[in-house]
Amino acid sequence: MEAATRELRQVRAAQNQSLFREINERINALNDAFSIVLPREEWLCECADVACVERIEMTGAEYEAIRQGPNRFPVIPGHELPEVERVVEANDCYLVVEKIGAGAAVAQDHHPRQRH
Ligand SMILES: [Zn+2]
Repeated sequence: MEAATRELRQVRAAQNQSLFREINERINALNDAFSIVLPREEWLCECADVACVERIEMTGAEYEAIRQGPNRFPVIPGHELPEVERVVEANDCYLVVEKIGAGAAVAQDHHPRQRH
């Protein structure tokens, strides 16, 4: 693949995933605000497909651990795109991916935890 095309795909994917991350941050804030005590909560899959509506089950603590990494996103197994990211963690419910190439900078620039 042409380098410019690959870079564009990496940027687009990271932008899409940053949007899902923003939504999950709001879900997280709501869960905190209402002190919902659930062993496992539902989060949106943060894959690069904007049409994806699948949910990931994980605890608030697991979510928090992933969110500490400005370049990390939880996705449903099979939703990872090797062209734009690499898998850094895997379990039965979800994978954690890290953006590569041009996408890494986009993910870091949009990291919601850095603005506070
Ligand atoms: Zn997905």
